[in-house]
Amino acid sequence: MTRRRWIADEISGNRAAIVGDHADHLVRVLRARVGQDFDISTADSVRRGRITSLSSQRVEFELREEVQSAAPIAITLALAIYKFDRFEWAVEKCTELGVSRILPVIARRTDSHLASASEKRSERWRRIARQASEQSRRMAPPELADPAELPQILKLEAPLRVVLAETGNCAMLPDVLKDRSAAALTNGPIGEIILAVGPEGGWTGEELQTFPKAGWIAASLGTTILRAETAAIAATAIVASAMLSSP
Ligand code: SAM
Repeated sequence: MTRRRWIADEISGNRAAIVGDHADHLVRVLRARVGQDFDISTADSVRRGRITSLSSQRVEFELREEVQSAAPIAITLALAIYKFDRFEWAVEKCTELGVSRILPVIARRTDSHLASASEKRSERWRRIARQASEQSRRMAPPELADPAELPQILKLEAPLRVVLAETGNCAMLPDVLKDRSAAALTNGPIGEIILAVGPEGGWTGEELQTFPKAGWIAASLGTTILRAETAAIAATAIVASAMLSSP
């Protein structure tokens, strides 16, 4: 039987609690009862939790045996900021697909008012990632960083860093991964990947030149121009399946 999963707000030994809106949803909407079992994620493991006390602001659990759970996939998504409702959709879907980290990027074509409003929006993005993590039965939500300018993102280190470019004059993403896994025979598993997806208006020509200079590989998702959230979801799904099926 699949038990609903919650990410604990507080953990101490064999006890855990969820509080605030989180607890209110469990008590008022899901009508939870003392003695009922749920899966409780404690960030580094998932355990069966039995409700020992509950109120609309606090639900306490006694933690029992560990439950099987998928480890996060080492995919970092550097997502250029664009219209919030569609950006948030990408956050939700890529969280479901298993990304381990999301970096909101202020790119040249990110609207200035969205760039300045993004700092205040980060808490909402973390809440969306947390709810999507519980719904998709992840062990823990992805790390969601504060918005950063592109030059900071370019400096990030990882075994493979890929910029999704709609310009079409670059290798297809699956081929980039295949080449990388071919290289894996000599230098070990694929390891962490950073994927960068441009804003609605795309990367500027100048930005696209900075990526290879910083050691990033450009990759295509095909001849059609995808919306940014579609590109983020497609690229994450392609990489996740490659990672989950690689030796
Ligand atoms: N500037 C583009 C245009 O209107 O011609 C649209 C940019 S697209 C909506 C937003 C981002 O999605 C791009 O910067 C790129 O990162 C990614 N993207 C969209 N289609 C892609 C494709 N076919 N291959 C690789 N990346 C793609």
